Amino acid sequence: VLSASQDFDFFYFVQQWPGAYCDAKQACCFPTTGKPAADFSIHGLWPNYNDGSYPSNCDPNSPFDESKVSDLLSSMQKNWPTLACPSGDGTKFWTHEWDKHGTCSESTLDQHSYFEAALALKTKSSLLQALTSAGIKPNDESYSLGDIKDAIKQGAGFEPFIECNVDSSGNSQLYQVYLCVDTSGSDLIDCPTFPRGRCGSQIQFPSFDTSSGSRS
Ligand code: 5GP
Ligand code: 5GP
Ligand code: 5GP
Repeated sequence: VLSASQDFDFFYFVQQWPGAYCDAKQACCFPTTGKPAADFSIHGLWPNYNDGSYPSNCDPNSPFDESKVSDLLSSMQKNWPTLACPSGDGTKFWTHEWDKHGTCSESTLDQHSYFEAALALKTKSSLLQALTSAGIKPNDESYSLGDIKDAIKQGAGFEPFIECNVDSSGNSQLYQVYLCVDTSGSDLIDCPTFPRGRCGSQIQFPSFDTSSGSRS
């Protein structure tokens, strides 16, 4: 059977640092279900091609259905919180990620397996632990991009790609970490291709103080 639109070569597993989402120029809002932890959280699990391009919105007949992930919801609220404004319970973010990306990997992962795989990958990559073990802490200090990448490589076992954004003062900072995953969604792999984008050679690791309330 030909199903070319369902094929892909690997996943990017993308995690975001909430401190960098929240101190950039857009507003951030904490979810209605509770303040996020000061930890990396999931942005998405994105099917990709080896040439750097990617499929999107592959199956309009497969809507996000919360009842299929009811056993995962509390873990999704904790590990995959939405920081967009206005505050939401996450459904809108998860719907977007499923519609745009998840529907393109249905050849290997159904909806429950897709969300379950992403949650397991977050545990497997333990980014914050890898960084803090190397003395790299979310304390608004600057660290070398190479040191950050080395620490994650030590902890997760594979070289990450780091995406930066800029804070309100224009400083380049750690925003998202990309790791590559095989098509089954279970194993981290060496990236077949890295995304593009610039960081400085020294980047800030912004703090995320969850006691201060969301900003909008
Ligand atoms: P941005 O333009 O902000 O980097 O990305 C916007 C959106 O495009 C992301 O949230 C994601 O949905 C998608 N995207 C960006 N880069 C990639 C990529 O390299 N691979 C895949 N699969 N999606 C991407
Ligand atoms: P992408 O298309 O880049 O995979 O996903 C980004 C979309 O998800 C945007 O429409 C963005 O507004 C929405 N979104 C909701 N919550 C979040 C969040 O916590 N982080 C990011 N990066 N995007 C979010
Ligand atoms: P190299 O491959 O020599 O380490 O890096 C080549 C260029 O890519 C350098 O300008 C370096 O700053 C940039 N670079 C390397 N790794 C990353 C990364 O993970 N994220 C970003 N944004 N740039 C990177």
